Amino acid sequence: MRSKKTLNRITQVCLLIAAFACSASAREWRDVKAGTSMEAEYVRQQGNKVVLKRTSDGKLFAVEFSRLSLGDQAYVMGMGSSKPTASSSSSQKKTTAPAAKNQPSPDALAGMSKKVSNDHRYYRADFSSPWPTEAYASPRQTIQVIKEDSKNDFYVYRSPHFEFQCDAKLGSSAMSKLARIFEATYDYVNKMPLGMLKAHTRGGYFKVLLVESNHSFMQLGGRSGVGGFYDPEKDHVVVPIHNLGVRKLGGSYRVDHEKTNYILMHELTHQLTEPVYFAQGSRGWFSEGIAEYVAGTRYESGKFHLNTSHQKNLMRYITLGGRHANVGSQYDQHLVKEVHMPNLEWFMTMSYGQFSGQNARANYAFGLLLTNYFIHLDRGGTRESLNSFLKGLHEGKTGQTAIDELLLGRSFDQLEKEIAQAYRRSGLVVKFYEPQKLSTQFR
Ligand SMILES: [Zn+2]
Repeated sequence: MRSKKTLNRITQVCLLIAAFACSASAREWRDVKAGTSMEAEYVRQQGNKVVLKRTSDGKLFAVEFSRLSLGDQAYVMGMGSSKPTASSSSSQKKTTAPAAKNQPSPDALAGMSKKVSNDHRYYRADFSSPWPTEAYASPRQTIQVIKEDSKNDFYVYRSPHFEFQCDAKLGSSAMSKLARIFEATYDYVNKMPLGMLKAHTRGGYFKVLLVESNHSFMQLGGRSGVGGFYDPEKDHVVVPIHNLGVRKLGGSYRVDHEKTNYILMHELTHQLTEPVYFAQGSRGWFSEGIAEYVAGTRYESGKFHLNTSHQKNLMRYITLGGRHANVGSQYDQHLVKEVHMPNLEWFMTMSYGQFSGQNARANYAFGLLLTNYFIHLDRGGTRESLNSFLKGLHEGKTGQTAIDELLLGRSFDQLEKEIAQAYRRSGLVVKFYEPQKLSTQFR
């Protein structure tokens, strides 16, 4: 969180960037197997181990990657994926340079990833079920009141899959309504056959901090104009309650209306996404693309619309540059029918710093365009190449090696032609340009 001040952001850019791009600094690490934790600094990766420097005495420890919490694993993966590029702006260099200093060698990454592959985790992961046709949460969610400590303004509630820690006494009635958007997003991501084991975690709760005061939100790492964010280090989502339609009436809280909060859906998707999907080669176009895919799906009263208008809504979301699809027809006249995106090889291999830099808004839309292509349009909608890519990530493949699994023998040029052809059938013209010669044309 310390490096956030260096980021040049717009509301569209999620705060995930900040935590991933930050330099090595002391943080809490958890050994899940032993049930222990310690405050330490990330040093490097060594084979399948992660070397940590304990804050209290500077002693070095080597912890097996697979023993670390999912949040820690995501953090480690993030440390290996920031590489400054020649075309980065100076502000981007500022954020990517410290991480690059600690960038492990490719060999170290491969060694670490082998440990993951030895778990054979993806064999239990679902890649073959049909794509979900519905995702929803019932209007009234069962809420457990875990703690209501008014002295310290600390309240804890649980819905089936989330634990909410609040600084306001929301009560089970308001919580029951609020939990709907969280549980609906959970249902959606959980049903996607993308090998997302983390989303299938049983018995645990995904942590969410609901904050009333803007001051608390800022202190936790929030930014003004941002509807919520995911902190991968702490593996929790932080969201201000006013963004969920909560109002205080007298002494109690009411949920006025169910506010559609697509940034929250985006951030929840990050929380539910498999940590290895943030590896180099995927982080950026796919990790943001899948979060935008969820956020761009029309959501209404606890239900995601995955019917025949789903593709149309996504196209609208893409061409409106990430504004929600739930808009009236007056926006149709502004729809862009032609999208110009940088050539595929350049786009898919750019650093995350660059991805989330000044063209972030367009890059997020291109990420969604590609993710949607690989889910629904490539190879007759079989997800053959996407599955091969995701299984590769589970096996520890990263960077170009992972992307090769996606290409399945095709060249980038060939894939560009296939993408353009597929979208033309949906009425969207996609053109690729050489980024060195042209500036981004996407509006
Ligand atoms: Zn994001």
